[in-house]
Amino acid sequence: MEFTHVEGDLAKTLITEQELHDKLEELARQIEDDYEGLDLLLVGVLRGAVMVMADLSRTLNRHIEMDWMAVSSYGSGTVSSGVVRILKDLDTDLTGRHVLIVEDIIDSGLTLSWLKANLESRGAASVEICTMLRKPEALKVQVDVKYCGFDIPNEFVIGYGLDYAEQYRNLRGIAVLAPHVYN
Ligand code: IMP
Ligand code: MG
Repeated sequence: MEFTHVEGDLAKTLITEQELHDKLEELARQIEDDYEGLDLLLVGVLRGAVMVMADLSRTLNRHIEMDWMAVSSYGSGTVSSGVVRILKDLDTDLTGRHVLIVEDIIDSGLTLSWLKANLESRGAASVEICTMLRKPEALKVQVDVKYCGFDIPNEFVIGYGLDYAEQYRNLRGIAVLAPHVYN
């Protein structure tokens, strides 16, 4: 879906599809260099990371494997508590594997810091993080992110996998949602 189809719902457009793809090319070249000679397992976090995973994996000119996890942060209301529940676990044994977690966005960082520690505890050789977006102002915990596409302002964004009430995931680019949509 193009921005123009939901123009009235958007406060502003932030990142175009072309800019996302250009950034992925950049990140993919770094990943190819960093993991040269090593096996690589990409772990996507459902559902938001589907688009990043699909595009990043195809941009990588090397063999990779893919697996998926689904997690949910519990907490009262909208505040992420840092307590994470696994809804769907990996099918892959991580022993000795080089794991790259692929994410759409890091907000508080609570989910990813928990997930990184969880995967490390399974005997992986390495666990790193690749995220398309990061909200620096919202970062509550220190998370070591090896690959980050864009630092964005602390606003609610949608598109390229990111949803509001399960909609807008199929928007090609990333935009700030207009307040009238959720008020
Ligand atoms: P956190 O880093 O533990 O706070 O959780 C990040 C998760 O919250 C992401 O994986 C998204 O599912 C969701 N999220 C955070 N910020 C946004 C946003 O601006 N738009 C849509 N989803 C978001
Ligand atoms: Mg997510």
